[in-house]
Amino acid sequence: MAPESAGVPPLGGRGLCAACANARMVTSARGTSFVLCGLSRTDERFARYPRLPVLACAGFARREERGGRDEEA
Ligand code: SF4
Repeated sequence: MAPESAGVPPLGGRGLCAACANARMVTSARGTSFVLCGLSRTDERFARYPRLPVLACAGFARREERGGRDEEA
């Protein structure tokens, strides 16, 4: 009996990656999900799959949230 979110830490468990524009969630064939750091493609300082939670990161860029009232004209 595997937990529903096997391998996926809760939102807060991902640390900065949870709110980072460079982060993408990828899911393996086994259904395990990981954070993929987009900066790893061009900068070797960043791990492709960072160890979570990331608490401090030089590449962190806050992702813009959509659907907020601020976007209404
Ligand atoms: S830049 Fe840092 S915070 Fe952003 S996805 Fe990569 S490791 Fe996570």
